[in-house]
Amino acid sequence: MKNQNATQRLQLNARIKGMKNMGLYPYFRPITSNNQDSVVKIDGKDVLMFGSNSYLGLTNHPYVKAAAKAAIDKYGTGCAGSRFLNGTLDLHVELEEKLARFLGKESALIFSTGFQTNLGVVSSITGRNDYIIIDEADHASIYEGTRLSFSKVLKFKHNNIENLEQILVSLPEEAVKLVVVDGVYSMEGDLARLPEIIEICHKYQAMIMIDDAHGLGVLGENGRGTANHFGLTKETDLIVGTFSKSLASLGGFVAADSKVIDHIKHTARSLIFSASATPASIASASAALDIIQNEEWRIQALWDNTYFAMEYLQELGFDIGHTQSPIIPIYIRDDEKTYLMTKMLMDEGVFVNPVVTPAVGPEDSLIRFSLMATHSYKQIEIAINKVYKIAHKLKLPLYEYATV
Ligand code: PMP
Repeated sequence: MKNQNATQRLQLNARIKGMKNMGLYPYFRPITSNNQDSVVKIDGKDVLMFGSNSYLGLTNHPYVKAAAKAAIDKYGTGCAGSRFLNGTLDLHVELEEKLARFLGKESALIFSTGFQTNLGVVSSITGRNDYIIIDEADHASIYEGTRLSFSKVLKFKHNNIENLEQILVSLPEEAVKLVVVDGVYSMEGDLARLPEIIEICHKYQAMIMIDDAHGLGVLGENGRGTANHFGLTKETDLIVGTFSKSLASLGGFVAADSKVIDHIKHTARSLIFSASATPASIASASAALDIIQNEEWRIQALWDNTYFAMEYLQELGFDIGHTQSPIIPIYIRDDEKTYLMTKMLMDEGVFVNPVVTPAVGPEDSLIRFSLMATHSYKQIEIAINKVYKIAHKLKLPLYEYATV
């Protein structure tokens, strides 16, 4: 085992070194612009940003920034303690009530990040003789949450209802079962097949938790998320969300029945043993939630941009899989070419995220092209034309119906 770990470490180091030597290393690039929106500055150059999760473009909204500043003036810069002890401000409680109302749940509980929320929630609901059943494409934080739990963990094939049923039917009736899915899958951009998943969960008396990091602010009435989009809020037992995407801040939360929230509050170690989210983070997330409801044009603009980009990419012959969201995968299906394309796009002033092994299989490597409400059609067109030019240089196979 020791040797295997050492070998893996050496392989990873060699891979990183190789990428750096070839000038292909795409990670940890500092952004130096005064603000972050659809254009950012990297290495002194303006770059079109198509790799951000700030779907509604709120990170520089004057109302959101003013709320953060006012919270610092009133409460200071940090809470210096856990929610459990000295780290709960009236701000946290007010936002919890606001989130619960917004989502249509009895209660909500704020953690310091979305990652910590999943760690805490996934590990605290079920016990030693129980089962957690996850979609294989769930977020890394859900996987980590299962590792902290004492329950047995089973995986079903991505969005495969038959496979989910095969698993549930084989489990002891008396055991507690928690099924965990993402609302919007963060690599491929597709949605959970929630209506069928919930039907199966009900059939086998399993609880259902949905991580809606990428659905909040994007789907449903006024951005209420994936469960609302399907009209299944009541049937979804636990809804997890993050402030780090549409809500332009940092933090996470879970919304559910009061009894369930009360249980998580007193058992989730990532909540109890970690400092609470800062006043500025909470105030800005709360302000962003107001904007979502007051500036409805943002969600509309996000979807207009999304459909515009999807259609243009398909017209040019790109394989964008089965995305149903502003996360558009451009399949390259080769790790090295994916890195090359990312680098060549950066040289041409376009920021995208490479998704390669082990995040996906090597035959599924892709460029993740993410839309924001604040992109213009012109910016999208410029970026996609560059993707197209580079795809030709790299001799990527495009669909036959490419017209340009
Ligand atoms: N869940 C999903 C699906 C995510 O994509 C992310 C962030 N990439 C998280 C949870 C973690 O959220 P946070 O950034 O707030 O830690």
